[in-house]
Formats: sequence, C-alpha cells, structure tokens
Amino acid sequence: MNNSLSKRDSNVIWHPYTQHQIMEEPVPIVKGEGALLFDEQGNAYIDAVSSWWVNLHGHGHPYIAEKIYKQALALEHVIFTNFTHEPAVTLAERILNILPGKFSKIFYSDNGSTAVEVSLKMAIQFWKNKGQARRNKILAFNHAYHGDTFGSMSVSARGIFTNSFNDFLFDTVFIDTPGADNLKEIKSVLQSYDGQIAAFIYEPLLQAAGGMRMHQANHMDQLLAVVQSENILCIADEVLTGFGRTGPLFAGESMSHHADMICLSKGLTGGAMALGITACNQNIFNAFLSTDRTKTFYHGHSFTANPLACTAGLASLDLLENTSCREQIRWISQQHEEFVRNELSVTGMELLVNIRTIGTILAFELNTGKHEYINEVSATVMGKALSQGIYLRPLGNTVYIMPPYCITPEQLRKIYLFILSIPDFIRKN
Ligand SMILES: *Cc1c(COP(=O)(O)O)cnc(C)c1O
Repeated sequence: MNNSLSKRDSNVIWHPYTQHQIMEEPVPIVKGEGALLFDEQGNAYIDAVSSWWVNLHGHGHPYIAEKIYKQALALEHVIFTNFTHEPAVTLAERILNILPGKFSKIFYSDNGSTAVEVSLKMAIQFWKNKGQARRNKILAFNHAYHGDTFGSMSVSARGIFTNSFNDFLFDTVFIDTPGADNLKEIKSVLQSYDGQIAAFIYEPLLQAAGGMRMHQANHMDQLLAVVQSENILCIADEVLTGFGRTGPLFAGESMSHHADMICLSKGLTGGAMALGITACNQNIFNAFLSTDRTKTFYHGHSFTANPLACTAGLASLDLLENTSCREQIRWISQQHEEFVRNELSVTGMELLVNIRTIGTILAFELNTGKHEYINEVSATVMGKALSQGIYLRPLGNTVYIMPPYCITPEQLRKIYLFILSIPDFIRKN
C-alpha cells in the first residue's frame, strides 16, 4: 500500500508545529533532486520554501553527498574538547574570512536556537566576567523570532508560539524595528535602561518567522550606531539571512556598523546537515581568558563541530563561492522584482497586499479580513499549491516564497503562475 508509511507515521510520530487532530497526513518523500521533492508515486513538488529555509543548492546534491560520504569513512565524529579536526578548523577559517566585520572565534553548536543560546550566554557572562553583572538585560525587536528553546523564546516576541511558557521566560526589553522617524523614541528607551542592557539581538533587514517583515539597511545602521554608543553588545541573528538569502552573502554587509557576535545555521551546510555557529570578536573572547576557572564558558553539546556537518558546510561554501551560484541569487532577486512590478502590482490582484521582496524572498499578505478566516485561507493556499505540485507554507495570512538557488526558470514560473491564480480560487472558496 502506498499510504502505509503515512499510517505508520501517524502511529509513532509527533511532527513539529503540527496540530495532529486537524492536519492532513504527511506526504512521504522518497527522493529529492534540485528544487524538487518526489513522493512514493513519483509526484514531484517544487520545494518553494527550501525545506524550512535551509536548502541552498538543491536536494541530494552529489557534490555535498560525496564529501559527507568520504568524511564518514575517515572520521564521523569525535569529542570536541581536547581534540580538534580539519573540517572544523577549515570551516572556521573560511567563515571568519567572509563574515561582515571583525570576528576572531567560531563556537559550534547544532542549530539556530543553540547558536542564539550560546550568544546570549556569552553576552551575559561577558559582563559578569568583567565585574559588571548589573548589565544583564537583553534588548530585542518586537515581532522577533530567535528560536524555540527557553532562552531564544525569551528574546522572541510573545505570542502563539510562546504563550504556554511566558511565565518561564526572562524579561526582555522590546523595541520597534528602526524606521524613518522612531530613532529618538528608541534612544529614550535605551537611556531609561542606562547601563543595564548587556546585548541587543536582531534579525538584520528581515524578520522572517515574525511575518517576513523588512526594514531598511540605512535605518538599521543608524540604530546600531546608537546601540553601540551605549556600549551594548550587538548580536546579529543571521540564522536565516546568512548565505545569500537577502542578496549579499550576509545581510550585515549592507551596514557599516558591525555586530560583536553573529549566529548562523540553516543554510550553513546548504541544508544537508544540522550545524550552528556563534562567531564572536576578540573583545568577547578575551573576557573569558583567565587563570580563574570560573570565567570559563561552560557550554557544549555532544555533537559540537560534528565533522560530517562541518564537511557539508565546506562543500556548501565551495558551491556558494562559485560565480554561477551568485548569478542564480541575482537572477532570482531580479525575477522577483520584475514579477512584482509587471504582474503582481496590477488590477485584479487587490487581494494580495504589502507585496515586498528582499533578495531571493518574495512575500505578501492575503487581505481577507478576519483572523479565523485567514488561517483557513492559508490552509487552502497550501492545499491548492500542493495539489499543483508546489510546496508552500504560509505564515498565517502571510504567503511567501524562498526557493533554493538552483531553481529553474520553468519551476519559478510555475510558482508565479500559482500566485497569480490565488485571487481567483480564494474568491470561489
Ligand atoms: C529558524 C531561526 C532560528 C532557529 O533556528 P532552528 O535551527 O530552527 O533552531 C533562529 N533565528 C532565526 C532568525 C531563524 O530564522
């Protein structure tokens, strides 16, 4: 039976972000190639969200697969205290070379949430080690999303994802993202917490899980100047924006003020393996150097710097540094802009509002009125797309696409045509 895997799945699996009482059974995927995913019957689905934003070069990439295979035969894993290995060191060297700003050290973990946890713990202990424990508050943006563990939830917006846990989250100072006229307001908030804020964590240019909200680089740059003038450490969460998603290799390249720490994951391995990085500058690292053992950073995960994951990271960087990949990123960005200008911003498309793009990401809202209805609509959009061989996963009433860089012109066109058909089938529904 071709649905047997779905049945076995429903017996034993609890899926992420899934209300099992009302969700459809998951589609068993047996193979991936380029931007396509194939189910057991051979139906193809265009992975229009890069498998939760991680995939850069396509599925089942032979170059990445080969490198992982060879590394697995040589050394699959080794404890990362007292020992080191070539993939971890080389990846650290190469990442430090391309990051926007002056970073000196790479701390490895397994995913975006842990990369964020590490940065928060480093920031808090940094001030403690310097004898300024009063600086223990974190500053973050409204609508922020930094992960699902307790620390990363604490610096994320309170809402449907966190509501069951709000009593257990530490207090965070939240501010709006910078615009043309709110810098003064933000300044006065910072001044009211004079000397108490340890660090500012932010998603540069794009707040993704919070609804694909975008802000301008020049405003962000001005905000960073203000924050840094208060001696607050800056943590750029580039877990999503890293590795070309917004156009340049890192969103931070668009600003002249650079972070003290930067968090990476998602595209870091091209989407092939789980890996997280927290990069920091020399100033941070130095605050932990001491003959006093209590100043040590006591944090680590079993699979820290897993050699297979680091190898996948190196292979993905090889592909990313190839000019054809950079051209693909530019091409997708241009296609999005032209599609918005020539086809989405025309009469008949009034149902789609706040149409916006940044790099390889295109987003808009469905202007359908009430919230309860909205969720139904997003499920309708997902179901309709899937029936046409496209995998989309709207965030509430925010529909977005974020394709792997290897997507073909025909595949991208197919997604665009689907988007153009949304007003028609929503009206009929
Ligand atoms: C996805 C995401 C995270 C969390 O990463 P996980 O690997 O899912 O834990 C953190 N920050 C940002 C900006 C993200 O988009």
